[in-house]
Order: sequence, then C-alpha cells, then structure tokens
Amino acid sequence: MTTKIAVAGSKGRMGQLITDEIGRFDDLELVAGFDVRGVGDPLGRGVAVSDASELAEVLQRSGAQVLIDFTTPSATVENVRVAADLGVDLVVGTTGFSEDQKEKMARSIEGRAAAVISPNYSQGVNLFWRLIEVAARSLQGYDIEVVEAHHRNKMDAPSGTAAEAVRILKRATGKSEAVYGRVGQGLRGEEIGVHAVRAGDIIGDHTVLFAGPGERLEIRHQAHSRQAFASGAVRAARWVAGAPCGIYAMADVLGQR
Ligand code: NAP
Repeated sequence: MTTKIAVAGSKGRMGQLITDEIGRFDDLELVAGFDVRGVGDPLGRGVAVSDASELAEVLQRSGAQVLIDFTTPSATVENVRVAADLGVDLVVGTTGFSEDQKEKMARSIEGRAAAVISPNYSQGVNLFWRLIEVAARSLQGYDIEVVEAHHRNKMDAPSGTAAEAVRILKRATGKSEAVYGRVGQGLRGEEIGVHAVRAGDIIGDHTVLFAGPGERLEIRHQAHSRQAFASGAVRAARWVAGAPCGIYAMADVLGQR
C-alpha cells in the first residue's frame, strides 16, 4: 500500500531534500508541497508547489495521509492545527518553539492525529542523546559543557538538538541551571554551560564535554549533509501513518523505547 505524503516548506533546504527522498521509494507518494515562495514550481510526478494559505483545501483534495513540516515555528503551529483537524498525521522537524507553541501543538494533536516531533531526525543524534545520558549518570560531579555549531542562516539558538541535550543532562544529573555563553568575571558554578557557534555553511555539530579531575570526555556528533535528517524524517512519515493518536519521538520510530 502507498503512503501519501505532503511536505510543508517544500522549497526550503530540508523540504527539497525530503521531496527528493520520497521519490526514491515505491511505497511512498508525494501528493502535495506547500511554501510561501516558488508557488507553482514543479516538484515532480505532476505535483507543483501550492500556496501555504491553501493547506486545508489541498490536503483534502490530494488525500494526504501525512504532512512533513520543516518551516518556521509560527507556521508549523498553524499547519499542525489544520492538518490534525483533518486527521492527517504529522512529522514535525521545525525547531525553536516556545513552551506556549509546544502546548498549542499538543492541544491540536490530542485525539485527532499521530505526530512524530523531533528536533533531530538523524540516527546518529538519537544515539548521541542516549550516550550523553549514560555519561552524565556515570560521571556525577563532572563539569558539563554543550557546544553546538551551525550555518550562519540558522534562526534559533541554541539548536533544538542542544536544547534536548540540556534537558536530558539536567534530568540525568539533577543540575537545574543552564548558562548560555559566559562573559565578565566570576567562577564557574554547578551549571551546564551552553554555547552556540554560527558560521559559514556548517550543517550541524554537537559536542557534550564532561570534565573532571585530570580528564575529560567529549561525545560529538557531526552532520556531514542534511541527507541524514531527510532520510530520518521520511522514515518517520512511513512509521507514523495510521499510528494511534499521540505525540511520538524519533526514539519510537527507531524502536529505542
Ligand atoms: P529554510 O531553508 O528556511 O526552509 C523553510 C521553508 O519554509 C522556506 O522555504 C520558507 O519560506 C517556508 N515557509 C515559511 N512559512 C511557511 C508556511 N506557512 N508554509 C509552508 N512553507 C513555509 O529552513 P531549513 O533549513 O529547511 O529548516 C527548516 C526548519 O527545520 C528549521 O526550524 C530548522 O531548524 C529545522 N531543521 C530540523 C532538522 C531536524 O532533523 N529536525 C534538521 C534540519 C533543520 P521563506 O524562506 O520564504 O520564509
């Protein structure tokens, strides 16, 4: 059976890779793409970019079962509301949501659709999150610093992947405070330090550094291309189609729970 997929942000860096990736599989069909630019541009197999304002109408007309959304936080919150109302399942890749936006999405999804929401769809980062949890539980009392680097056009800082790392590290260590960058005088406290580098065309690097007396351990993931995210998002779309209503993480897709 074929799974019909629509992509929001289809002209973006991620959206273009995702539409290409869908085309590689016989069991998946790209039925619609949405963006605020490039409307009317061909996406292959007779599908053209639709205006983002026509989301509800085109989702219904195309029979889309899953919407993959890599846009902006405010656009995604609205797209999730519209898609979930129609019972269309979701893969959300956008990062940088406020707590309020996350709650709005959860309310839209509840009882209406299944959604995978992950700040990072690469297999490597999902293992990285598990490894840093093990390290944090083992190396109690060590100083912890999170350093991430991304391209100069990235909108949100720190990255969603780093924010998830901080959440995991807080839970594993009991540390409650994160300090974002440091400037001026003063000794380090018991915080988790978080640092965001924005430069050139770096796809996405994340390092968690654990330092104690006489040693340090660094756990690092480096994305060499966005393909790792695109492949993971499409894998999540295949998994989420028709799943019971609820919000899932990439760990569910990878069978890591
Ligand atoms: P991008 O190149 O700016 O692409 C986003 C696209 O969405 C743009 O074409 C944008 O148009 C369009 N857009 C804006 N509002 C829209 C709407 N209402 N409906 C449909 N399309 C709309 O950004 P990107 O690098 O692909 O990243 C997109 C998001 O994914 C970011 O939040 C990024 O952090 C995240 N991301 C997540 C992962 C992951 O694995 N979860 C990996 C990479 C990136 P305009 O540019 O004209 O506004």
